[in-house]
Amino acid sequence: MGKVFVTRRIPSVGLERLESLHDVEVWEGQDPPPRDLLLEKVRGCSGVLSMLSDKIDAQLMDSAGPSLRGIANFAVGYNNIDFQAAKDRSVQVGNTPGVLTNATADIAVGLILAAGRCFGPAIGNVQRFEWRNWEPMMFLGQEFEGKTLGIVGMGRIGHAVAKRMHGGWGMRIVYTARDQKPEAESSFHATRLGLDDLLRQSDVVSLHCPLTDQTRNLIGARELGLMKSNAVLVNTARGEVIDQAALADALSQRRIFAAGLDVTTPEPIDRSDPLRSQAQCLILPHIGSATQEARDQMATMAANNLIAAIEGQPMPFGVTR
Ligand code: NAP
Repeated sequence: MGKVFVTRRIPSVGLERLESLHDVEVWEGQDPPPRDLLLEKVRGCSGVLSMLSDKIDAQLMDSAGPSLRGIANFAVGYNNIDFQAAKDRSVQVGNTPGVLTNATADIAVGLILAAGRCFGPAIGNVQRFEWRNWEPMMFLGQEFEGKTLGIVGMGRIGHAVAKRMHGGWGMRIVYTARDQKPEAESSFHATRLGLDDLLRQSDVVSLHCPLTDQTRNLIGARELGLMKSNAVLVNTARGEVIDQAALADALSQRRIFAAGLDVTTPEPIDRSDPLRSQAQCLILPHIGSATQEARDQMATMAANNLIAAIEGQPMPFGVTR
């Protein structure tokens, strides 16, 4: 039996599995555990089940000590974990790919429609009791039928968004990725482009790449300047992929039509961030994978990853890179 620290309460299906085999402590706070407490809590642990909001670095692994066998992230993205530091210490790292693909793709589609059709200002209008008449010229949005969708990062979620928007709205699909994606090309005639060409051609740009050194601030002032004035930019990847100050400028100068963000920098977004007061910027509090189905499966996968690592077996969903 090993000692395991779980940094937030997750669905019981995962916790009960872990508790049947290990000595589990769950952080019950509404907010993530403060750093010094986290360092304290992991001491002597064999496994840590972490959230994307927890910084899992060399200091934390050293605080856990030599008993540490695995870090199971309750997310598919693992940019919060210093993978090299884990490798150096023979600590396995796991994630939860696939089971949140549909949930996250649905949020991206929702943001495309909601941002493109001005849901934010329109809902605000009703809530502020400003709705007076049927207006011929108010809240005029974008249509999507037959237009071009640019997927930045044609992986699992990017593919699922392309499938929805190609099948449902007949959108032409263009994409970027470091490698060609034959399945997307055969399923919906997707065309691989360089980022600049994708930005120039797309009516909707949806971000689905992981956060890495190559993708940090991938969309900055120069890139926003290449986009069409009717373009809708959606980010369900990670906040740091967009230069947020540049996006606020582009929206205030109407250089693009609207943005829909499920992720920001930091999270929660600063009260003073100019994006908060942009009517054409719709912001959700990082709810991409927030369905009962996805979270139950993520809990089971993360628990299975930790159990395997503590037993000295390869994690079923281990990050290899
Ligand atoms: P995935 O299957 O690994 O897809 C990511 C894709 O990005 C890969 O196909 C990869 O293709 C491409 N990529 C990597 N580096 C790139 C670069 N520099 N430029 C362009 N494309 C690049 O991952 P996924 O399951 O779809 O998840 C994608 C990301 O979504 C996660 O990393 C996570 O950060 C985010 N996410 C957010 C939520 C949410 O709640 N909002 C939920 C789930 C996931 P190549 O290797 O060929 O480049």
